[in-house]
Amino acid sequence: MNLCDIQTIKQIMSVYGLKFRKEFGQNFLTNRMVVEDIADNACDGRSKTILEIGPGIGTLTAQLAERYENVVALEIDKSLIPVLSYTLEDYKNVRVINEDVMKADLRALLEPYFEGGISVCANLPYYITTPILMKLLESGLPFDYITIMIQSEVADRLCAKAGSRDCGAITTVLSYYGTAEKLFTVSAGNFVPPPKVNSSVVRIKLYKDKPYKPKNEDIFFRTVKAAFEQRRKTLPNALSAGFSELSKDTLTTLILECGLNADIRGEKLDTATFVQLADKIADAITANIQ
Ligand code: SAM
Repeated sequence: MNLCDIQTIKQIMSVYGLKFRKEFGQNFLTNRMVVEDIADNACDGRSKTILEIGPGIGTLTAQLAERYENVVALEIDKSLIPVLSYTLEDYKNVRVINEDVMKADLRALLEPYFEGGISVCANLPYYITTPILMKLLESGLPFDYITIMIQSEVADRLCAKAGSRDCGAITTVLSYYGTAEKLFTVSAGNFVPPPKVNSSVVRIKLYKDKPYKPKNEDIFFRTVKAAFEQRRKTLPNALSAGFSELSKDTLTTLILECGLNADIRGEKLDTATFVQLADKIADAITANIQ
């Protein structure tokens, strides 16, 4: 069965009485070379187990199952479960679970697979890319790689250099957890139905030992969020909006102590400087300086 063939996909959908569900971001891949490329690049051969989010009708799942020892696939759409039982019936190493990834207890589900190494590989639903990525990063689970197909615009943001125009809060947050590289771009014509945007595959290699060690992780994330939420404002103004417990004068002093100009914008800071600044903010809050 060729799961990349548009006629086959449409036939399967029709036999099971299904429609492509926009609310679940269902754009299925139709180019076998792209699917194989994603599966080949999932984890540099480091992990025995792959977590797939959103298997759809099982196109990528089957290719992952050919290459890796175990595949755990979480699919939100209950109506696709009988389809997946049919399309993946030859792959005994695939476990399909009907669950919303945002609600799933990933640690409980994946703990048995940690020892052999685990990575994530998925063609993500675009309506919820960032929340899924944040959940994966914040989970603290020992993923080796997260390889995801996402909207090209988001991919550019994830892979942007600090201080560049494409840089956003997510760029800095991601750089705290690992390094991202854009592997390749896939045009809309490689999906059914075609999405309105182009897509790119991004591979994130997660640090085993993070190089950045803020004194207080929450304050670090608050600093990044505040700096980018008001990205047109200067850093003292942007941070004032995010840290009402400190005065603008105090924040300005802390910024100057980091060797920065008071009129700098947050988007210009690299991750190490964000950590340095967040540590000073954390100290000032602890010391109850206003
Ligand atoms: N992997 C298939 C492919 O590449 O052809 C389908 C990818 S399609 C872009 C996204 C898939 O994610 C759909 O099957 C959709 O039902 C599923 N999905 C959407 N939201 C989800 C969620 N919150 N949790 C798990 N799966 C989800």
